[in-house]
Amino acid sequence: MKVLAAKLRKEMVRAVHQLAQSGLSRSSDGNVSVRLSESRILITPSGAYKAWLEPHQIVEIDMEGNLCSPYSSRKPSSEYFMHLTVYRHRPDVRAVIHAHPPHAVALTLIGQPFPTEIVPEGVAALGEVPTIPYARPGTAQMGERLEPYLRDYDVLLLDHHGSLTLGKTLEEALVKLERLEAVAQLWMLAKGAGEIIPLPEAERQHLMRSSLSR
Ligand SMILES: [Zn+2]
Repeated sequence: MKVLAAKLRKEMVRAVHQLAQSGLSRSSDGNVSVRLSESRILITPSGAYKAWLEPHQIVEIDMEGNLCSPYSSRKPSSEYFMHLTVYRHRPDVRAVIHAHPPHAVALTLIGQPFPTEIVPEGVAALGEVPTIPYARPGTAQMGERLEPYLRDYDVLLLDHHGSLTLGKTLEEALVKLERLEAVAQLWMLAKGAGEIIPLPEAERQHLMRSSLSR
């Protein structure tokens, strides 16, 4: 278990640095977790500056949110409720990334549903992305708001707040997050230049079918 935990801590730091470098989560925003075992989660600490995060700062918690790293001076991210809600409802998920991707979050500020239909990778790889009604970050209410969506979605937007991407690996969750932000950014760019022409309906249907059969 110790070897696995050390490996996962390193992967988490890599993912967090990637979030910071690509501007998907700035300052101390966002948090990353992985499932260590059936009853234990590794999660980034509260208030840490993401660009400088180190493996030993990551904390271990149980499924109730109790700290399991006896020598840790850090507390788990204040948004751990959200992560635990995901792991409780989705046994297949082993990694969760909560980020603040600026273009994707900006869509929620203007009440724009996520425009998955504008490019093939949106339709085939992301699919529908719901926007979860606002709840104050770090509260149990955030977890409650998420629950009804968790069965059907791996990529979610949190109104006036951020994103949540789920994966079997950290890499998978990161790939989904970067794609989410890329599609949102493209939509903004095109919207500023003129009227957006969506992909033809027949092509969208084809892409959806091929993504389901993969
Ligand atoms: Zn947040």
